[in-house]
Amino acid sequence: MNLAELFRHIRPFVHPYRWLVVIALILTFIGSLTAQINAWVLRYTVDKINVLVETGQGLREGLSVLTFVSILLISKEILNAFIQFGQKYFGEKLRIYISRDLAQTVIDRILAYKLAFFSSGGNRPGKLQTRIDRGIESLTRLIQNFFIDILPLFANSIVALFMMFNANFYVGLVGLCIIPIYFYVSRIQAKKLRGRRREIKELRENKSQGILGILKSITVIKSFIREDIEEEKQMYLQNSLTDTQMQTQKTSFIFDGLKSFIEQIGVVLIIILTVYFVLIGEMTIGAIMFHILLFNNVSAPIRQLHRIYDEMNDALIYSESFFEVLDADSEIEASGTYRSQKVEGYFRLQNVNFTYPDNDVRTLHHINMEIQPGKITALVGLSGAGKSTLINLLDKFYQPDCGEILLDGVSLEDYDTTYLRENIGLVLQKNHIFNGTIEENIRYGNPDATYEEVVEAAKKTFLHEQVMKMEEGYQTSALALSGGQQQKIAIARMFLKNPPIIFLDEPTASLDAISTEQIKNSIDAIKKDRTVVIISHSISQIIDSDQIYVMKGGQIIESGTHESLYRHASREPTKKYSMPWPAASTSTKYPVPSNKLPVPRAGGRATKFSYF
Ligand code: ATP
Repeated sequence: MNLAELFRHIRPFVHPYRWLVVIALILTFIGSLTAQINAWVLRYTVDKINVLVETGQGLREGLSVLTFVSILLISKEILNAFIQFGQKYFGEKLRIYISRDLAQTVIDRILAYKLAFFSSGGNRPGKLQTRIDRGIESLTRLIQNFFIDILPLFANSIVALFMMFNANFYVGLVGLCIIPIYFYVSRIQAKKLRGRRREIKELRENKSQGILGILKSITVIKSFIREDIEEEKQMYLQNSLTDTQMQTQKTSFIFDGLKSFIEQIGVVLIIILTVYFVLIGEMTIGAIMFHILLFNNVSAPIRQLHRIYDEMNDALIYSESFFEVLDADSEIEASGTYRSQKVEGYFRLQNVNFTYPDNDVRTLHHINMEIQPGKITALVGLSGAGKSTLINLLDKFYQPDCGEILLDGVSLEDYDTTYLRENIGLVLQKNHIFNGTIEENIRYGNPDATYEEVVEAAKKTFLHEQVMKMEEGYQTSALALSGGQQQKIAIARMFLKNPPIIFLDEPTASLDAISTEQIKNSIDAIKKDRTVVIISHSISQIIDSDQIYVMKGGQIIESGTHESLYRHASREPTKKYSMPWPAASTSTKYPVPSNKLPVPRAGGRATKFSYF
């Protein structure tokens, strides 16, 4: 990204505050004029005093000069104080407002992006967070400095240069010649540092990602006593970061010294030139101070040039990846406009293939299936068979590579995505609990639900009694609950949402036997008169399904009712499957009602069954 592109990107964010910009510009212009007063006053004072001394006049005559000079300088300082306050205040206001708008816009955007966006490498949580934080920080710092530092300094510089030319063409020329040399050196410095800054940016992103990873998996790290490995990984990143930062600073110091040298050469040339004109009688002695102060005003912003370059480079580098996040239009979740009167819940998948965006291997192959409305459909199969992926497609989180998914005869793509998801409930193996109370977390299922409705939902998931035993009841922090209790919150949310279609992706996998049985009862209740798709490795969860699809390697290899699949497996005892169908007496982990267990074949031989 170059500077022009950067300004084009920032423009819409600055536009609402253009009046602040206009005020800042007016103040800058006035400030640049008052900044030259010192040079005028010094020349006036030196020349006047010089005349008084040469003509032998004393303190009495000099008093009027001193009074005039003092009043002028104090008035200028008072005016300057207001100008600086205004510049800082409006500059800061602009920064804070734009920072808020950038932060809110990026949140709005990422919430609108499809899931695929978050699974690509640069958008993993830690990295994305750094991209956003650094982007906003560097952009707003640039905007703030532009109005507080850069603009006033450069305005001073231009006015001072104009005055130098006005005083003497050659003196002005020296001032002018220094600027391109300075620019040239600063440009080389910036070029040398650009690669390193990019490196620093990437290392910082990796570090954030690493820290986030440690925090997320602290229990695993501790249980495997792998603190050393994690420490080493972070140490390697930290050392690389430190080395690159040191190299960057070293380069900066070398160039800073060079630029300081160039500036001092400028000062020496100005002194020589002015003294020459004083000696040949073309200038008064006051011109020496006058020119040096003016040159100081010219070189002040140039002295800051490397810092300005640094900040611009930072802004260019960080804003590039920030605006990539902001402008990822192709990542916005697609939505059709179709909204039916009522969603029945009849899904039909026709020849669906699917590959995850960051995965080269196809996950689903030629899926053809039907999900009947008001019925329970189970997806079973080994881990990695593609069951959750199928649900992701039914929820429109991802689009198939080819083939079609129809809901009540209409392509999912044509559905208004918000409407579709209003009609679908999803319970995962591990559901996210937000930082908040139990009441707030359950109400996530329906923000308009009353307290009584929240309690009712909690009762249906057998959570209410446990909550009532807690000191703060429904106001207890939900993060303090056990995994099983948190899962009950997720199901309670579903009772509040009350959608006609429910996807249950191993809803009891993280629960103990009693909680599983309790939740099974609540799930049985919620299944009534809805379209339910359930994924489970537990027989008790799927035995009452109207239709079971068996998946393997991303394909559907068998389907039917529990009885038909059981009969089929019994007819083909030679088929080897990975897990035996548990007999009633051995089923301890998942209590299954005895009337629902398959009857072992005559002779009591443990039958290998196909769908686990
Ligand atoms: P389990 O019973 O363990 O949950 P599953 O049958 O639900 O397994 P999926 O989670 O659908 O299996 O995964 C199917 C395949 O897709 C796996 O090989 C997995 O590595 C891959 N996969 C799943 N999620 C992603 C993702 N976000 N990005 C890339 N590949 C993925």
